This record gives sequence, C-alpha cells and structure tokens, in this order.
Amino acid sequence: MSKIQEYVQKNGIKPSDCLYHTQRSAKSSSGQPAGKMRVLVAKADGIARVEYTCPECSHEAYAEQEWKRPFWLKCEKCGYKMTVPKMKAEFKKEQKKGD
Ligand SMILES: [Zn+2]
Repeated sequence: MSKIQEYVQKNGIKPSDCLYHTQRSAKSSSGQPAGKMRVLVAKADGIARVEYTCPECSHEAYAEQEWKRPFWLKCEKCGYKMTVPKMKAEFKKEQKKGD
C-alpha cells in the first residue's frame, strides 16, 4: 500500500491539489471492516487512484479509474464490489471545492 504515497511525493501533491482524498476501512459482505481502501483524486486529471485490501479475499491491489459518484470498485481478484460511503462532511467539502 504505497503507490498513492509515491504518487503524492513524486508529484508534490498538496491537499489543495486533491479533488478527493480518503482512507478508510472497507466492509465485507458480512459487514465486517476487514479491508481498507485509500482513494485520491487529483484535480489535474480527475482520475481516481485507489489502493485497497479486499475485505473478502485480502487481495491487495492498486487501480486507476474515472472518478464519479457514487464511487465503487471491484476487487480484481474476486470481483467483490467495494463502495465509498458518502459522508456528510466530505460531501459538503466537495461541494465547496467544486464552486
Ligand atoms: Zn477480493
């Protein structure tokens, strides 16, 4: 889980350069917070960079995909769908930044 960190350091990404950045636990199908995911969307390209540990099969991977709401990602190994729950505070922040 260091791809996003490398990207941030290499490109000198500051919080103000991010459209969205979060790190949180990912829940398995039984509701257990068994995995985790980190999502970073740079304003420069609008691409969501995601690092995750699948809560279903513990597979670790890095992925890039178009950023859109609601955001979700499928584990490349088992196909489990991970979602990024919308949090009120973050949503407000996003709205503000979007102006
Ligand atoms: Zn998986």
